[in-house]
Amino acid sequence: MAKAISSIPLSRIRRVELYINKSERTLAEIKEATGADYIINGGLFEGTKAVCHLKAAGKVWASDPYTYWGYAWDTGPDMVLEGVPAPGKLNYICCVCLLRGGKAERLIYGSDLAGHRQRTAMGLKGGNLCLYCSTDGATPEELQAELQAKGWDSAVMLDGGGSSQCDMDGQVIDASRKVHNLVCVYLKKEEGDPMSNKKIVCLDPGHGPDTVNGSPDGSYKEKEFTWDLYERLKTILEGRGVKVVGTRTENAKPSLTARAEASNAAGADCFISIHTNAAGNGGWYDARGLEIYTSSGPMTAPRNLLATDLINAFHAAGVVLRSTPIVHNLDLTVLAKTDAPAVLIEYGYHTSKEDVALLNDTAYRDKLAQATADGVCKWLGVSAADTSDPTPWYAEDQEWVKTMGLADGTRPEDSCTRAETWTMLRRLYEAIKAGK
Ligand SMILES: [Zn+2]
Repeated sequence: MAKAISSIPLSRIRRVELYINKSERTLAEIKEATGADYIINGGLFEGTKAVCHLKAAGKVWASDPYTYWGYAWDTGPDMVLEGVPAPGKLNYICCVCLLRGGKAERLIYGSDLAGHRQRTAMGLKGGNLCLYCSTDGATPEELQAELQAKGWDSAVMLDGGGSSQCDMDGQVIDASRKVHNLVCVYLKKEEGDPMSNKKIVCLDPGHGPDTVNGSPDGSYKEKEFTWDLYERLKTILEGRGVKVVGTRTENAKPSLTARAEASNAAGADCFISIHTNAAGNGGWYDARGLEIYTSSGPMTAPRNLLATDLINAFHAAGVVLRSTPIVHNLDLTVLAKTDAPAVLIEYGYHTSKEDVALLNDTAYRDKLAQATADGVCKWLGVSAADTSDPTPWYAEDQEWVKTMGLADGTRPEDSCTRAETWTMLRRLYEAIKAGK
């Protein structure tokens, strides 16, 4: 079982291509041939023909007597959810619309798409293009609920089942099926692109789906905590302009060596493994508090300076610490095999009643993520200020005028001429008349 999810700022996208796989290439061959940064399988097909609406680079590959909500664009960063076919656009794709304006759409799909199957979807969320591919079995309703819970503004389910496959900036879900069409995303790569100078932090959410570690009363699972803290920490670090590389996807459990290798391959500036600790052999114990493992001294080694900056940040945030909060251990594979300065943080004891109450508390998790980010940024020399674009107050209205086809949603701060007002009024009238 594997799941890969990406959220790509539209401002970073150079081009989105609907790749028509005429020569029936595999995912790896398409990656090799196109050099795309993100690839995911596209719309439905039967044999060698696409079904439902599909237009790629100005050429219509499939049409249908009905209109559906789908994604349409000329270059890619201009992608919007609109009724397709959209004759004015160079590209469009549709299948089953799951979400529109953040709300669940009534699902319309044939029995061939029903049941628990592997699922692929694309969507938009607050200025990001989102891609989703999972080999877990899910119904369209379950997929819809999951993406809505993730806060996607809009989502379209793509072809699933044996077609599900992706290569998202190195997160690969492979399949033997050679699909008819794929969505390829190319990022901007100009000289001096600030993305290329970014600091890279490799985060290692400990364990994986089959790990049973948790509290004696069953209220806390270490695997759930490590993934959740990873997501919180990733969001904060990315907001500060740091590139984050994960060692695994949500439902995968790579070996410890593979985790170290993921960090090494990314050329990470530091490596942080996320865990919680246990005492004794079953039952509750008194031992509690956070501690950090590194390989041995000296204390002036980068890994120990990183650990010290982290401990100072945790202390400042009021996090409960062990009496000796930095512990040296030469036997931990993820620390020993990692090129970058590496630490393993045990955020507390899941065998302590007091710690479990804190570890289960989302406000405390936010505090832990914030303090970890503060310590890492101090050590990296990165400003703690959030540099990500705040969501503007008019974001919802902007999406609405685009969805309704009233305006293209660009130049939000510009004033409107009388002629532009006439056009928008007329479009609104037409939309109401058409029962949109
Ligand atoms: Zn652990």
